[in-house]
Amino acid sequence: MPCALCGRESRGFGYCHALRWERHPHHRFCSMACLAAGSANARRNHGMIDKTDMETRAIFEARRALAAALTELGLMEPFFHRPAEDIDRVIEACVDGFRASMQRQSDAGDIPF
Ligand SMILES: [Zn+2]
Repeated sequence: MPCALCGRESRGFGYCHALRWERHPHHRFCSMACLAAGSANARRNHGMIDKTDMETRAIFEARRALAAALTELGLMEPFFHRPAEDIDRVIEACVDGFRASMQRQSDAGDIPF
């Protein structure tokens, strides 16, 4: 089962809104960090995780990490004057590729426990 938030393998962290298993979905997470963020979002959202809302924010917050890596590698120059949408496209491409691979591996049962 992939983490409801980041798509990594879930590791025994779970959340079900108000523990009403028959009413709300049981979300599984990979880590305390994803559990905290995901359950906080679900509490505000009737037990559902609004992923689009979180993803938009996560991509925005990932810009800083990308900029740090680009600066470290001396690659910041070509990105510096690009609009934010271009930066987000790079981040999304990485995230989508990562997530798709995790999903494929998870579906194939390749992930060791
Ligand atoms: Zn996660």
